[in-house]
Amino acid sequence: MATRLDGKALAAKRKAELACEVEKLNRKPGLAVILVGEDPASRVYVTSKRKDCEECGYYSEEYALPAETLEGELLGLIEELGRRENIHGILVQLPLPKGLDEKKILAAIPPEKDVDGFHAVNMGRLILGEEGFLPCTPAGVMELLDEYHIELEGKHCVVVGRSNIVGKPMALLLLQRNATVTVCHSRTKDLASFCRQADVLVAAVGKTGLITPDMVKEGAVVVDVAMNRNAEGKLCGDCEPTVYEKVSSYTPVPGGVGPMTRALLMENTMKACRMQGK
Ligand code: NAP
Repeated sequence: MATRLDGKALAAKRKAELACEVEKLNRKPGLAVILVGEDPASRVYVTSKRKDCEECGYYSEEYALPAETLEGELLGLIEELGRRENIHGILVQLPLPKGLDEKKILAAIPPEKDVDGFHAVNMGRLILGEEGFLPCTPAGVMELLDEYHIELEGKHCVVVGRSNIVGKPMALLLLQRNATVTVCHSRTKDLASFCRQADVLVAAVGKTGLITPDMVKEGAVVVDVAMNRNAEGKLCGDCEPTVYEKVSSYTPVPGGVGPMTRALLMENTMKACRMQGK
């Protein structure tokens, strides 16, 4: 029977630990979340971030701006939040509506308040193996693997997906842990042959049913990052559920990586608060 890597339980534990830590501080970690436009999925994510802040005892502010917001206005808000002492973390919910330059907006967030870990400075620190803010999803995957004592050193880890927010940082974090890492993407020829070699397979694509049992080695660890909707509208990952029958451990969708991403945002906000010392 495969082990289910329970991200929901671990995230709840982490948030409870953070709530205890807040009680010992003489201030509250503060997170500002900016949502531009009315993307329904983004709205759900922003609401859950507010709830997480409440659960951890953090101070939070939410800015819901219309899709027509001018770049200058958004940059002005980020600059103001960057100066505020009670705001330790700033998060701009992605994707941004057309007309707003994502790179420019992310670059405007001060690196010490970049709790999403998407700023070029934090990405650079990750590549160099220096201390900084790690992107929440891959960092959450690492915490989950560690919680279940999944050995990575010398293992062949195959990451499917090379986005800046998931695939690339995931590969770097695995590399830091002395895994041998292969990164696959939409131009990879014969994806199945790479996946079959994986001791640890991380699927981060966003295509329901992409990973089928014949693509997975017996006894592998499978991490499914994706959050897709199937034909019935139910949340599901990239892996066909029958994949779980031949693996040693797997992250369920929902209840695996998703809750860990949220917990890591809270951890990063606490770290920002500690680093800023006010
Ligand atoms: P993304 O930016 O769309 O990247 C998808 C990646 O998959 C790209 O690198 C793409 O390759 C690759 N790809 C597309 N089709 C492929 C195929 N047929 N075979 C192999 N690779 C293929 O997506 P993302 O932001 O990284 O997110 C990936 C998934 O994770 C989505 O389902 C998203 O909802 C989910 N997600 C979950 C969490 C969480 O907390 N659980 C957080 C973030 C994202 P190219 O680079 O060649 O285009």
